[in-house]
Amino acid sequence: MLKGVNLKNPHLNKMPSDFLYHLNINVPNTADTSVIQKQFGDIVAVCAGGTSKRMRELAIYLRPILGIKDDSEPVDLCESGQRYAVYKVGPVLCVSHGVGSSTFSVVLHELLKLVKYAKCQDPVFIRIGTCGGVGVEPGTVVITKDAYNGYLKNEHEIPILGKRVVRPASFPDTLCQEILKYGAKSDDGFNTIIANTMSTDCFYEGQGRTDGAVCEYSDDEKMAFLKECQKKGICNIEMEATMFASLTQKVGVRAADVCVTLINRLNGDQVSITMHEKETFEQRPFSIVGRYIQHLLLN
Ligand code: URA
Repeated sequence: MLKGVNLKNPHLNKMPSDFLYHLNINVPNTADTSVIQKQFGDIVAVCAGGTSKRMRELAIYLRPILGIKDDSEPVDLCESGQRYAVYKVGPVLCVSHGVGSSTFSVVLHELLKLVKYAKCQDPVFIRIGTCGGVGVEPGTVVITKDAYNGYLKNEHEIPILGKRVVRPASFPDTLCQEILKYGAKSDDGFNTIIANTMSTDCFYEGQGRTDGAVCEYSDDEKMAFLKECQKKGICNIEMEATMFASLTQKVGVRAADVCVTLINRLNGDQVSITMHEKETFEQRPFSIVGRYIQHLLLN
């Protein structure tokens, strides 16, 4: 049975209006959101990825998959907000989120409020990204099950009102399995796997790289850490999964993190693939998620 989105914030019920500042979307009357419902009420999937360029490409990619005949330039609905790009293609939103949890969490809070005000039914949130791999061939697509932070704990830690708040950070297993089942094909020419992910706030030291501006550990210590990651079933490293899993888990919204690996970190730190290879790799999560959304709309 489909359900609306229930957020975990009693203060929202007392707000007569709500301005989604970074999206530059105003909800003038929270008691009557019919205008927002008309614009966004059909949303079944919200796809988020780092750059506006990639999200524009995703919007164009999804058109034929969704049976939409349109050759026009996709319109960034939130261009006036000057922060995040938002493209709507049929019942799918494609939204840029920047690099890391801090920028993603801002737009994620506002998107969750948007789908609540729009009375969307059971929307699924999917992050489509790039990542480093741990012991897997570059180009492998990883669907995250459990998200680990940089302390190798399966949780998201955040200071709130001066206190350390720790929340669980897992993605629903059923959704991981469905994306694998309906998204991946045996003749894709690359592997798609379900595995655990480490999510850090720092691309360099946080991910155990030795090529940042500062590094105070040896190569051996770095390799020992990456082996520790492997023992926890971690096959990729990115910068958003713990926040994304914890916030969506908290409000009971289905979510998934689908990322392609650009490098095998057991072999080095520098991402040195060519732009062409990167673009080819970036198409892979598009096809996995595209097929899954096609399945979602048929059911
Ligand atoms: N993104 C990351 O966070 N890490 C990598 O190694 C590659 C992409």
